[in-house]
Amino acid sequence: MEFRDLKTQYSKYKEEIDEAIQNVLLNARFIGGDPVSKLEKRLADYIGVKHCISCANGTEAMTLLLMAWDIGPGDAVFVPDFTFFSTAEVVSFRGATPIFVDVKYDTFNIDPDKLDDAVAAVKQQGQLKPKVVIPVDLFGQPAEYEAIQNIAKKYDLLILEDAAQGFGGNINGKMAGSFGDAATTSFFPAKPLGCYGDGGAIFTNCDELAIKLSSLKVHGKGENKYDNVLVGVNSRLDTIQAAILDVKLSAFVNHELDDVNEVATIYNELLEGAVDTPVILDNYYSSYAQYTIKLESPVVRDKVINELNACNIPSMVYYSKPLHLQKAFDYLGELSNDRYTVCTKLSSVVLSLPMHPYLKRRDIERICNIIKNCV
Ligand SMILES: *Cc1c(COP(=O)(O)O)cnc(C)c1O
Repeated sequence: MEFRDLKTQYSKYKEEIDEAIQNVLLNARFIGGDPVSKLEKRLADYIGVKHCISCANGTEAMTLLLMAWDIGPGDAVFVPDFTFFSTAEVVSFRGATPIFVDVKYDTFNIDPDKLDDAVAAVKQQGQLKPKVVIPVDLFGQPAEYEAIQNIAKKYDLLILEDAAQGFGGNINGKMAGSFGDAATTSFFPAKPLGCYGDGGAIFTNCDELAIKLSSLKVHGKGENKYDNVLVGVNSRLDTIQAAILDVKLSAFVNHELDDVNEVATIYNELLEGAVDTPVILDNYYSSYAQYTIKLESPVVRDKVINELNACNIPSMVYYSKPLHLQKAFDYLGELSNDRYTVCTKLSSVVLSLPMHPYLKRRDIERICNIIKNCV
């Protein structure tokens, strides 16, 4: 069994994907061109925003935004403590200071009340300027944007939505990727919408920002690549990847997103009462980048992992270490566990199970039976 079955997906769409790749080879245009602009237009329409700017990966998408907003030394950027490293890495990379905020136990997403406290504390201290919050749509469920927007307004913060996992999710029909001042996503192969290598995109309604990002991602180009008006980077989505994503976006919209939700429903039914299943808030819709359960204790979790392993069923711990404990952030000084009790607890009990649109009912049943026997 695969954790995320990309082989089955390819076999289903082989003809279309092969043809898309072949066309790029025949045209011999590997950077930019129609496949990239067509994809950007389709993605912007799907998310419901004016602009989509594709780039090299989800991490650089965030870096580009922090560059465009001129975030650097002396600035505080608020990030959830429970997320993939990259959400905070980009902050440090820009020389700004990441401030880790605890999350909610049920949804895994940033806790708006604790965000408010964290911003107030930074303001009070007076050493750093609160500038940006990066809520993450963890495991596919959008963060609580209504509450976050109120806090952002109160403290004059920009919102960067990290929708690397949230792509396809929504709140009341408003798509992940459309919240905040700008949003980013990743097309890393295992993400809800993945390509066959690295890829990413930025979404925004702001015309000025879109123009600046389009320049920054190509060496700060002005009239052309050899007229440079800003110091930027080289961060583009390959034409081949755009052509592949064009096929995969149709599959995603036509059935894959529904299918992962169907898988989640079956998991929920079979696991109810045995373990904590994912909590999706009312009017929220998840893209189920991960299906993550919570076990009673680290011991029980180890037992479940081992039993699944013995049956050749992969499972993953996302995330085994909260960001405030990552060695890379030692330079920030001692960060007390007391401020991150939820993240610390989560890291010891979460377990992500195989999740993808091609997972069969009998496989889900097998997985759930093993888990139920363990707990
Ligand atoms: C995967 C991921 C990223 C980074 O995306 P890449 O394309 O791998 O750079 C950022 N944030 C979160 C939450 C992610 O899951």
